[in-house]
Amino acid sequence: MEQLIIILAVVVVVVGGGGTTLLVRTRRRLPRAPQRPALRGGTTAAPGTAGPDLAEGGSAPPDVARSPAAPARPPAPAAPPAPEVEKPPPSAGRLVRLRGRLARSQSALGGVLLGLLSRDRLDEETWDEIEETLITADMGVTPARQLVEELRTEVKVAGTRDTEEVRSLLRTQLLTQVGTDLDRSLHTGRHGDRPAVVLVVGVNGTGKTSVCGKLARALIGDGQSVLLGAADTFRAAAADQLQTWGERVGAQVVRSGRDGADPASVAFDAVNQGIEHGVDVVIVDTAGRLHTKAGLMDELGKIKRVISRHATVDEVLLVLDATTGQNGLRQARVFAEVVDVTGIVLTKLDGTAKGGIVIAVQRELGVPVKLVGLGEGPDDLAPFEPDAFVDAIIGG
Ligand code: GDP
Repeated sequence: MEQLIIILAVVVVVVGGGGTTLLVRTRRRLPRAPQRPALRGGTTAAPGTAGPDLAEGGSAPPDVARSPAAPARPPAPAAPPAPEVEKPPPSAGRLVRLRGRLARSQSALGGVLLGLLSRDRLDEETWDEIEETLITADMGVTPARQLVEELRTEVKVAGTRDTEEVRSLLRTQLLTQVGTDLDRSLHTGRHGDRPAVVLVVGVNGTGKTSVCGKLARALIGDGQSVLLGAADTFRAAAADQLQTWGERVGAQVVRSGRDGADPASVAFDAVNQGIEHGVDVVIVDTAGRLHTKAGLMDELGKIKRVISRHATVDEVLLVLDATTGQNGLRQARVFAEVVDVTGIVLTKLDGTAKGGIVIAVQRELGVPVKLVGLGEGPDDLAPFEPDAFVDAIIGG
């Protein structure tokens, strides 16, 4: 009997298309059930029509249920069973858990620094080498010089060459450069009946879509409900990827049924669905094509404007690939000019020894690193903690 019910449910899911699949999950997860029949697999108006309307304060785009797979697909038995919804672990203390991975990639830097500092003679040449090592680790010239100057004074004042004491002085200087008093919290609290909105921006390939999925997992692990908006409408693969992340953890996904649809329209629909379904946080993935600055500004500006009609954009997270060094910093500059970035997500820190980028990018943008990616696993995104980071470098 139970099997029969499952088979019937699967048939309903397949006939109804992706949107219905989401509704099934939504009902189970969210007591404040929607008035509307289903979360749409897509939205919206024809290209170029929805955006300007919305930007001028027009009404929501017409809801057009798009279930691309609905008419053609045969019913069961080929249908896969609905995926099991996972219960992700909470995000607290993740960096400590991932510390081994961080140490593996970053401890070489600490090793070289401590090696230089333990030389018999700390002469001019050695201090130059220390500065060069920091610059090679992508820390940036000015912070590297500052750190060396401060450390030099400290070592002199302390009059010590004891390894542990020197390590402790280096630790303090690194922490000062990383910054211990920046607000690195993610603002994901609801605003009354409105969800918090997190906009995720960055160049394609940096790990942007994975960050959306991993962040959704982490927030769900922390007890929040999440809706994902696939506003990168230029890459169907990105929406598919987001959908897979969503299905695994029970996050609703709003996407367009049509490639190249207006991203602002999808973002708008995602936020509206988030409001209707009483979701805590809406995470919007955006396109990161390297096109003109003006184009980027138009697109992100419009997405933000449109969302702001109904909700507050609480976070604009810029995703940067830590392995791209100066190139990454250039990208960061462009994004910071077109949108108010509130936090940086530094991905692939497991794949580079150049952890100094944390310091350089914060300095460049005046915005804190809030999250770091340390692998491709679903729970390899961690809140950034300066202490754990510096300890991973110098082996504290
Ligand atoms: P997008 O094009 O910016 O959306 O990038 P994706 O999310 O598709 O990620 C691009 C690739 O980077 C994928 O293979 C991810 O698994 C990988 N990736 C993302 N974050 C990390 C990370 O922190 N560490 C490592 N090693 N790989 C990552």
